[in-house]
Amino acid sequence: MKRLAFAAAMAAALAACSPRAKSPEAQAPREQPQEQPQEQPQEKDMADPYKEKLTPEQYYVCRQKGTERPFTGKYYDHHEKGTYICVACKQELFTSGTKFESGSGWPSYFQPIKDKVREESDSSHGMRRTEVMCSKCGSHLGHVFDDGPNPTGLRYCINSLSLDFDPDGGDGSAES
Ligand SMILES: [Zn+2]
Repeated sequence: MKRLAFAAAMAAALAACSPRAKSPEAQAPREQPQEQPQEQPQEKDMADPYKEKLTPEQYYVCRQKGTERPFTGKYYDHHEKGTYICVACKQELFTSGTKFESGSGWPSYFQPIKDKVREESDSSHGMRRTEVMCSKCGSHLGHVFDDGPNPTGLRYCINSLSLDFDPDGGDGSAES
């Protein structure tokens, strides 16, 4: 019995040491890139990739056109210099130089960064308003009203949940 076990062990050791051992790994063709798509979730939420990137609250506002309750957002009473960016796609939207105190409870700006927001008429909730969206990813940001201050007379009333803040971005003072 012992001799048999020894022979078996030797055979195994010889096979393991053999440089020509044909292990499945050594023979596998180099096609690893094809395996990556399998890691993506495919069965659900394919319609909107932002569902996984955003918190449920952010998703409700940005992608389902919700509105946060006033005086609850983190940016309505925020006064640092910098740039407000889209929370979904990180595009720059507003600079702190255009932010003003509207008293509405939502962060308010008299002007967006050029070409960074899209506007569309919105007749939901029995009101005629103009919806403001990120021009890059289409996320809902808020609405624009014509009761703002100079120089534009506009009030971009934006949800904090739609925004992120970049203190290293420009504050608008250097823009033409
Ligand atoms: Zn965006």
